[in-house]
This record gives sequence, structure tokens and C-alpha cells, in this order.
Amino acid sequence: MIKLALAGNPNSGKTTLFNDLTGASQYVGNWPGVTVEKKEGRVKGDKDIHLVDLPGIYSLSPYTLEEVVSRNFLINEKPDAIINIVDATNLERNLYLTTQLVELGIPVIIALNMMDIIKKKGEIINTKKLEEQIGCKVVEISALKGEGTKNLITEAKKVSIEKKKIDIKHTFDVKVEGSLSEIKEIIKGKVKEDLLHWYSIKLYERDGKVLETITLSKEDKKSIETIIEKSENEFDDDSESIITNERYTYITSIIDSCFKKRNNTLMSTSDKIDKIVTNRILAIPIFAIVMYLVYYISISTVGTAGTDWVNDVLFGENGIPGVIGNFLASVGAAQWLQSLILDGIVGGVGAVLGFLPQMLVLFLCLAILEDCGYMARVAFIMDRIFRKFGLSGKSFIPMLIGTGCGVPGVMASRTIENERDRKITIMTTTFIPCSAKLPIIALIAGALFPGATWVGPSAYFLGIAAIVCSGIVLKKTRRFAGDPAPFVMELPAYHIPGAKSVLIHMWDRAKSFVKKAGTIIFLACALIWFLQSFGFENGSFGMVEMDNSLLKSIGSLIAPLFAPLGFGDWKAAVATVTGLIAKENVVGTFGILYGFAEVAEDGAEIWTNVAAAFTPLAAYAFLAFNLLSAPCFAAIGAMHREFGNGKWTLFAVIYQCLLAYCTGLSIYQIGMFVTGHGFTILTAVAFLVVIGFIYLLFKPYSEKYDLSGKEALLNA
Ligand code: GDP
Ligand code: MG
Repeated sequence: MIKLALAGNPNSGKTTLFNDLTGASQYVGNWPGVTVEKKEGRVKGDKDIHLVDLPGIYSLSPYTLEEVVSRNFLINEKPDAIINIVDATNLERNLYLTTQLVELGIPVIIALNMMDIIKKKGEIINTKKLEEQIGCKVVEISALKGEGTKNLITEAKKVSIEKKKIDIKHTFDVKVEGSLSEIKEIIKGKVKEDLLHWYSIKLYERDGKVLETITLSKEDKKSIETIIEKSENEFDDDSESIITNERYTYITSIIDSCFKKRNNTLMSTSDKIDKIVTNRILAIPIFAIVMYLVYYISISTVGTAGTDWVNDVLFGENGIPGVIGNFLASVGAAQWLQSLILDGIVGGVGAVLGFLPQMLVLFLCLAILEDCGYMARVAFIMDRIFRKFGLSGKSFIPMLIGTGCGVPGVMASRTIENERDRKITIMTTTFIPCSAKLPIIALIAGALFPGATWVGPSAYFLGIAAIVCSGIVLKKTRRFAGDPAPFVMELPAYHIPGAKSVLIHMWDRAKSFVKKAGTIIFLACALIWFLQSFGFENGSFGMVEMDNSLLKSIGSLIAPLFAPLGFGDWKAAVATVTGLIAKENVVGTFGILYGFAEVAEDGAEIWTNVAAAFTPLAAYAFLAFNLLSAPCFAAIGAMHREFGNGKWTLFAVIYQCLLAYCTGLSIYQIGMFVTGHGFTILTAVAFLVVIGFIYLLFKPYSEKYDLSGKEALLNA
């Protein structure tokens, strides 16, 4: 059994290579930070080789969680060899990690990826020279085209069997090397022999996490500190920067001798597109138009055609419900069982699945935008805006992933180094409509605003507005004060999206949706059906009319809470609560309560019934509340894991619900006032809420918090 670790910069093609080698279909995204956890698999056709896909990292310093995960894995689990995947189009940045990997005492082989692009550009990399200068084998590959990957495995196998120690070719400045030797003298025997060099560098850099792992006496620590200080005085720089500079000097010398850039002053097509797409003035309008089109296509046109078909034909009178109904009647199934299956399961789950076509179209559009490279630009554009409001542009990547599902979205917050930015991101990521909220948007748009194309996009922009406003307001509190972390992101070259990766991506998201429909939504629908079918009538418990059901009693208890938002109807209240289990349940509950079952009787379908139960204003308030309020249990669970702390989770959930409530209230009450329904005490409350919020938005930042950012963090 041979264990190989795949390490490299974010977006260097690790996952593409992993999929190519293992035949897996892991998610490939054209932006950094997609693989946050390591993934394992076996190599196709060579089952003895075990491959681990590590999260992307720029260095082995412990600044981000991924760096820590990757470093611990490499040091503690000692793979037989590291395949260091290097993006050949970005040698300088990628080799920075390489210079650190070769210090770990594990055989390293370099997979020089994206060679297809290099060749297309007509550039030349002298791999033989590169090998000589770094001291390990270099194999040219193109993970995307599957070129050279077999050869890579053959060579990696060779290297790991030989267990050939790398003789590190780069040396630091003599003075630095001198200090390192002195440190080595002190720690000799206290660390593993083959890691001696690495430890000496880490201690020289004052890496706290590494220091924790070895036991040193007080005197030892003191002498090491003296060595470092002396060196820092010599270089007039801090020790960490000294090492970084040294590495870059070395890398520059490698690149000078191995890399022939083509001397062209012409801009590449990618650059030309970027000139327009990331233009200061045009960027936002272009983004708005693109997102508008995406939602327009998926919710208003193409997707709707599919959904109409599913609703009218597949789940229509002569479709599935009819067939199942006839079957149940013919086998003489009990009345309650017929009701459970038709009203509960088919009604509820069917209502949710009806939106699958719209979602497939949305996922397809998003997948194409991601894969071609546009979404990476969006993160870049958003950084400019977010930064103005004290948020990091890095927050946008979790949000992007959150358009599929909030759970991985929240998890993607791990790429953010700064603790405060990370926390704000965890709190706000789920404001973006995830795929499960899409059916709610589509239902409200279809039922109450037929023909209107603005509802879908408006939900998306409402989510972004909630995030930006939250960022502004929260950053003014003691807990979150401080500057956002810098955001460095490589913009990948545009490319025509690959059909395979787009489809995998679309299917990935759709799969979890369908799976949920079959499990959690199925159960919830059965429960809702039970509660709405049973209750007390004339003092005895049994099947009753909906008006006497347990569900109505429960719903009527909560309903008054939502009356100020315009949807004090118990059915809407129940739907909102079931949405906490999974957002798809909102529509599922509507399916049961406003009934597919009645389709056969009065010819009305669910949309008509929903339309009759809401005014457009109330419906939009309902939509806003459900979009912004606490996410489903799964996402709350993910938030809890990422916060690692119940107090924070509670704070976040309360904040989300409060914001959702205030938004719903303002939309409904002010809307009522504007449309001439008079001024009531609730109108006054709504105006106060809006004024209060505007005050919070424009209140100046408090200087004293900026200074105490660190302290605020400690208190948190
Ligand atoms: P990771 O973040 O390192 O896992 O990178 P991914 O595997 O997600 O790939 C990032 C992007 O680079 C994707 O859009 C890939 O399609 C693209 N990519 C990966 N390998 C190659 C390659 O060899 N050539 C080209 N042209 N693109 C590649
Ligand atoms: Mg990846």
C-alpha cells in the first residue's frame, strides 16, 4: 500500500487531478477554497495506491485552518510521497509552497499542471533544469485533458518506493543558515532527525504551534530567542519576513533560469474580457444583469415550462396522483392510508419535486458561470464593495457556494483567516437564497406575481443587501470591530466550461435536493399530514376535518406572531415553522394544506389556492421573512460546528430571525401605508424600525473599537 498526498495552491487543479486519477467526481470549482476537507481515494487501475486530496494552501504557516489541516497531515501521517501540484502558469506563487514541502523530509514529486495553457501560449519551461534546481522529479501534466497523469503515477510510485531523500538545493543566506545551525544544536535529539531542518526553520520563524509540539527547557527557549533576535538585528527585519524574502529570492533565480516567457505585449483574450467585466463602473451593472438573466431563465422562462409540466401533467389529475389513487382504491386500501399517501406524501413531496426542473436550470446556469471563471471575477468585484463596508471579499465565496446549499457554504468560511470576518460570514452566508429556498421564491412568484420577472432576482439582491447591511451594522459593534483581512485571489483564465464538470456540479446540487425530498421532507410531510388529519372532535380523538385538527390548534397559537407581517393565517405560520426543518418543507406544507387533493374536486390547483390566501404584499413579506430567518436545522448545525460554541450559534440565529422579522414587518406595514390602508400603530413601529436601522447604518464607526479589536476577540 502506497500513500500519496496531493498538495498545492488553491485552484491549481488538485481536485481535477484527483478525479482523473481516482475516477471520482469531486467538486471542481474555478475559484480557490473549494476543497476545505481532505478527500481520499484509490488510483484507478492501481488499487495499491491511496491518494489524499488536501485542501489548497499557499504556504505551510499556520494562518488558516486549511494550512493547519494540511501541515498536520503531512507531519503526523507521513505519506510515502507528496505530489506537489504546481500551476505552471503561476510558477512564482506556486513554488513558494514547494520550497516548504521539500523541507519536510518526505519524497516530493512535482506535477507541473496546466501545461496545455503554457503550450498554447508558446511559453517554454525547462523541466530538466527545474528538477536540478529544486532537487526532485518534475512531470509535466494537464489534469484537465488527462495528459501525463499516468506517467505521474509511475514516477510517484518509483519515488516513494526508493524513499529517496531530497537533497534540498536551496540554502538561505549564510547568516540565516548560521542561525539555523545554532538552533539545530539546541533541539537535536528532541525532534525527529529527518525533521531537524524543518523544525529549526519553524522555530526561527517563531511558529507558536510548532513550539507547542516540542518540549524545551526555559533556557533552551531563551537561547533560541537570543539567536533569533541577533539575526533580526542583522537583517533589520522580523525573522518570518527574512525567511519569506529568502524563499522568493531563490524562486526568482529558478524562474530566471528555467522559464521562457513569450515576449508578447498583446493582451490575452482573458485580460480583454476582464477589462470590461471588472471595470470599476461597469462591473456591478454587468453582474446585476447576469444574475437577473440567470434567475429570469430559471424561474420565469425555461424552468417554469418544466415545472408547469411536472405540476400539470405529472402531478395533474391524470398523472401520478390519479394513477396512485386508482391503484389504492382498486386494492381497497383504508381511507386513512389513501389520504396519507395522496394528500400527505404525493401532495407534499410532489409539491417540492415540482420545482426540480427550475432548480436544474438554475444550477446549470450557476455551474456554467463558475466553471468559465466569471464567478471568480464576481468575488473580486464584491471584494471592492464588501471592503468598503468592512467585510472581506473572501466572504463572497462561502455565499457563492451557499447558493447551492448553506451547509457547505458555511463550511467554506474556513478559508477566512481573520476570526471576526469568519464569524460574520458564518452568520450571514445563509441570507443568500439556497436551492431549498428557491421553491418558495418560485411559488410566490408564480402564484402571486404571474408574469413578473423581478421577484426571483429581487430575492437574490435582498440576500446580498442583508449581508452588506449586516456587515456594516455588526462591524460597528465591539464584537466585530476591526479591518477586514486582505484578500488575495488569483483570477483564473476564462475557459469554455467542460460539459462533464458542469453536469457533475449541477447533479451534485440536485442530488442532495432529491435525496432530501425522499428522506427528511418525506417524514415531515407525513407528520404534517398526521397533524392536519387528526384531532379532537366531540371529545374523542380521531380523523377530523382540517378545521378541528391538531395542526390548526398549534398553528393558531403561533399565527398571531406573524399577523403584523401580513400572514397571520395559521397555514402560513405552520409552513414557516416547518421550514426550520428544511426550507423545502414550506412548499411541501403548502402542498398539503392548500392541497393537491382538492385539485380533483374543485379544479383549483395549489397556486390558485395560495393566491387566494395572500395579498401580494403579504406574500412578499412572507417570502422575505422565510428567506432571511434562521436557516434549516442542518445549516444551523453547520453554523454551530464552525462557531464551535453554542452562545455564538444562538446569537446568530436570534440575529437572523430578528432581521427577518423587521424586514417582513417593514415591507408589509409600510407597503400597506403607501397603498392607502391608513396609518396604524404598527405602521409607526415599522417606520421606527426603518429609522433605527438607517441610524445604525450611518452611525460613525467608533474609533475606540478599532484599537481594541484584539481584546474584543479575546472577550468573545
Ligand atoms: P483545486 O482548487 O486545486 O482543487 O483546483 P480544481 O481542480 O478545482 O481546478 C481549478 C480550475 O482549473 C478548474 O476550472 C479546472 O477546470 C482548471 N484546470 C485544472 N487543471 C487544468 C489543466 O490542466 N488545464 C487547464 N486549462 N485547466 C485546468
Ligand atoms: Mg479542490
